[in-house]
Amino acid sequence: MARARFSKSFTQQPPIPEDAIEAAVAVMRSGRLHRYNTAPGVPGETMELERDFALWQGQPFCLAVASGGQAMQIALRAAGVKMGDLVLTNGFTLAPVPGAIAVVGGKPVLVEITDDLVIDLDDLAAKARQTGARFLLLSHMRGHLCDMERLMQIATELDITVLEDCAHTMGARWNRKLSGSFGLAGCFSTQTYKHLNSGEGGLLTSQDAEFMARATILSGSYMLFDRHGAGPATEVYDDIRLDTPNTSARMDNLRAALLRPQLRRIDQSIAAWNERYDLVAARLAAHPAIRLPTRPEAEAYVGSSIQFRLPGITAANAQTLVARLSGAGVEVKWFGAPHPIGFTSDHHSWRYVAAQNLPQTDRILAGLFDMRLPLSFTLPDCALLADLIVDAVAALQTRATS
Ligand SMILES: *Cc1c(COP(=O)(O)O)cnc(C)c1O
Repeated sequence: MARARFSKSFTQQPPIPEDAIEAAVAVMRSGRLHRYNTAPGVPGETMELERDFALWQGQPFCLAVASGGQAMQIALRAAGVKMGDLVLTNGFTLAPVPGAIAVVGGKPVLVEITDDLVIDLDDLAAKARQTGARFLLLSHMRGHLCDMERLMQIATELDITVLEDCAHTMGARWNRKLSGSFGLAGCFSTQTYKHLNSGEGGLLTSQDAEFMARATILSGSYMLFDRHGAGPATEVYDDIRLDTPNTSARMDNLRAALLRPQLRRIDQSIAAWNERYDLVAARLAAHPAIRLPTRPEAEAYVGSSIQFRLPGITAANAQTLVARLSGAGVEVKWFGAPHPIGFTSDHHSWRYVAAQNLPQTDRILAGLFDMRLPLSFTLPDCALLADLIVDAVAALQTRATS
């Protein structure tokens, strides 16, 4: 029973909405692309985006920056991470996360993950106690939220400052509270493969005025910090403006213009992702060998990608599976690959981080697969993808048992 080959591209995003294109064209016509190059009395698009996002995220302060990676680096510095400070982070995440810690001079302390792909809170508490680390860059990797109440309780008990990497959880909630609003700061990405698309871009939110004033100066505001859409009061900058270095990582008006109309539609996008995710998840879950991360009642996720595990799969079988699916037009990534490929890498290939022993994470990654669910895929596309994956997994098993 040969199925049709899947022929759509996994990297094709939906087009930028027409009103966003018009807004971007208007910025280009004006020639005022730099965020501080605004006509007198007219707020620029970047300023307006900060206002819009702060409101949507329910936080008093928002800073628009050049990328998600820059949002994390700025957040670490503004939180007070100094050369040699230990920073806890997930043992499974994307390379810009340990990268952000390393470039600000921090030393990553990698924490194990659980079968549900979230940070292991027992290992977190144990490592915080053992090492005395006082910072956590928590990555909600691939959109999975840990028990945020328990995490914040551990952080309070052990005096840990929490910064959240929300690159995959813009719009996700734990017990109705938005990811990014638990810790000192939320770091978001508007890079093409995330929940809003401006090519590159980042957003940083917080409730802490001094943190945000430091972050704003770090982002390269010069002395123009009063031209921010959701920034702290000018007096907060009195000392901070002279004590904080400028690292030039601003967003520009063109990107902000592309983002504002997309933000207005984000709830529709989230609903569309979740329809796709739930459809694929239900079909995959029907196969006894395929394990999906459990999604707790408290978690309102954004299913912009899907992960599944084949516990105990051999490396050879994992490679066969990925190759077969690729032959059927299905781009599935395997996190257990011995060498980094494309966007995926694991802690063994982050050589700028001291080598660490993470047996539990290694075991999980050895059987972990991942597929993007771009909104350019229809529901029938998603059904076909799920069926192709189930067929390929079943074919492996038939071989193994025959
Ligand atoms: C993409 C990503 C980032 C960084 O975002 P950029 O805008 O690409 O710098 C951070 N964390 C995770 C988990 C990501 O996937």
